[in-house]
Amino acid sequence: MENITILGSTGSIGQSTLDVVRRNRDLFNVFALGAGSNADVMIRDCLEFEPAFAVMKQEIAAEKVRNELKKYPHVRTEVLSGSDALNTVASVDECDSVMAAIVGSAGLVSALAAVKKGKKLYLANKESLIMTGHLFIEAARKSGSRILPVDSEHNAIFQSLPESEQLRIGFCELNAAGVSHVLLTGSGGPFRDCPLDDLRRVTPSQALAHPTWSMGPKITIDSSTMMNKGFEFIEAKWLFNLENDQIKVLVHPQSVVHSMVQYVDGSVVAELGNPDMRTPIARVMAYPKRISSGVEPMDFVKLSGLTFMEPDYDRYPCLKLAIDSCWNGQAATTALNAANESAVYAFLNNKIAYLDIYKVCAETVAKFCSDNIADVDSVLELHKKAESFASQLVTRIQK
Ligand code: NDP
Repeated sequence: MENITILGSTGSIGQSTLDVVRRNRDLFNVFALGAGSNADVMIRDCLEFEPAFAVMKQEIAAEKVRNELKKYPHVRTEVLSGSDALNTVASVDECDSVMAAIVGSAGLVSALAAVKKGKKLYLANKESLIMTGHLFIEAARKSGSRILPVDSEHNAIFQSLPESEQLRIGFCELNAAGVSHVLLTGSGGPFRDCPLDDLRRVTPSQALAHPTWSMGPKITIDSSTMMNKGFEFIEAKWLFNLENDQIKVLVHPQSVVHSMVQYVDGSVVAELGNPDMRTPIARVMAYPKRISSGVEPMDFVKLSGLTFMEPDYDRYPCLKLAIDSCWNGQAATTALNAANESAVYAFLNNKIAYLDIYKVCAETVAKFCSDNIADVDSVLELHKKAESFASQLVTRIQK
């Protein structure tokens, strides 16, 4: 029985993880749940899974959960609040594995706490690697923590690699394994075919309507700009230890092929499936075995065709910016992530226009890309500075 801590449990990935647990109760025990402010979902899940701990970032939400659970004396869940408590439930001895699914930079410190203590880490929070790639992988090497990629594209690449490399996430040697390059696929989002001029008028509700995947709001906006694919590019570099010529991005509107590995002998190995995050979640949780995830099998007869194309950087300047930042270094990717968080939330709150997301990000990266990053504290400091600079840009654009 594996004792799992699920961070970001009230969100899209968190709920899919709980569904996989629900279907495999003989294999997993929910040790702790962690989230931000959604007390109602936390209460519901505590009543169903009875974790030893429930942690809310906000004390006011924790208080609500605590008061409600008092009505059910058989539920022995201890309710805590704050960032330190999130780090604790991710790193205490009783916890075997951690699903890191808090959205954004807020997810970094708890994921790192788990890695430092050598926990098995199911990594959904891509921001951890975007901000601290080298430091994160080094911490895993020191502690012996096993990182298993949840993001569907990285999970597909993971599944398409030889077993020798699956066991060396962070330190793969793909040349020696006969890999030519990896092919990272992305749907292209809801604006793949619209006239470029119309992008100026895109509203939050239009950008939130993803054609194939159902996800949280931040990542859905990132998918529409393809910043998400750029972040995945950076994440892939760290997970699979890639060089510049070992990774290519392909737009694939149907989201059936979740990514591929091209070998030097001409073979291409891919992972295909319905777009449902329970598949990669079940894959990492059961690895190396397979368990039921509740995902319907693919019906190939119903497929209308699989198409692939090069990304158009005029349509997706955020993707180009992220790829350039990837090879520019950790300061550039940290600044990019901070700026993008500020810009996306500003766009969702109708403070800036859709195309301003790119402007805020590009200006912030240019300002901070040469900063020095030596440790996690300097990463967090740079994140704050870049966030504040991006917020000022947002205010300036608003005027
Ligand atoms: P959601 O917005 O659906 O959920 C975010 C979760 O994080 C919620 O549980 C939220 O809690 C919690 N949270 C937010 N801020 C804090 C905080 N400061 N402290 C503690 N918890 C916090 O996001 P997703 O599930 O879509 O994404 C989660 C992560 O997984 C992201 O990094 C995303 O990039 C990645 N990912 C997501 C995929 C998807 O299909 N959704 C696919 C691949 C990767 P609450 O709501 O209670 O405030």
